[in-house]
Amino acid sequence: MPQLRVLFTQEEIRSTVGRLAREISRDYEGKNPLLIGVLKGAVIFMADLMRLLDMPLEVEFVRLSSYGRGKVSSGKVRVVRGLLRLPIKDRDILVIEGIVDTGITLDFLLGWLRRKRPASLRVCALFDKAMCRKVSVPIDYLGLSVPNEFVVGYGADWDEKFRNLPGLYVLEEENQPQGA
Ligand code: 5GP
Ligand code: MG
Repeated sequence: MPQLRVLFTQEEIRSTVGRLAREISRDYEGKNPLLIGVLKGAVIFMADLMRLLDMPLEVEFVRLSSYGRGKVSSGKVRVVRGLLRLPIKDRDILVIEGIVDTGITLDFLLGWLRRKRPASLRVCALFDKAMCRKVSVPIDYLGLSVPNEFVVGYGADWDEKFRNLPGLYVLEEENQPQGA
């Protein structure tokens, strides 16, 4: 069985989401942004963040795929399901992402959205694994930096499990040799 080591507590995440909400509220004052959450990982973050945003807004979700069962990005991203119904053109779009790792997923999504001609396009990511970046992507609102380790919880899964954990945890294999 895998072991879980806490990286960020529920309370640390809660205060970070609050800080991001304040930054976004300040920058989008008088606007009516369309938040686009990346399923499934960003669903908990989206739910917590949007309730702290004191402005008119709408939400959409997009489902992308790159990891499958593995812990390493396959590098191939696709829109599994275009769930977008609201028009993107001329809207202020704020992409809500749980974890940015290689950047491949976000880079793909931003390209896809840019072609739909939004008025503005920004990114809010709760967790950043900057050391793992392969494609540079702009993150306008950044929550917490995460080391180069596979994490679960607060929306992030391993094999569809652990999304419901309230904090963020490193998933460690048991019997893993020390220093490996
Ligand atoms: P990227 O394309 O930036 O490599 O990967 C982004 C996606 O991979 C995120 O949306 C997230 O779902 C998933 N991901 C990246 N790193 C991790 C991780 O450490 N744990 C989990 N559970 N998912 C991750
Ligand atoms: Mg996954």
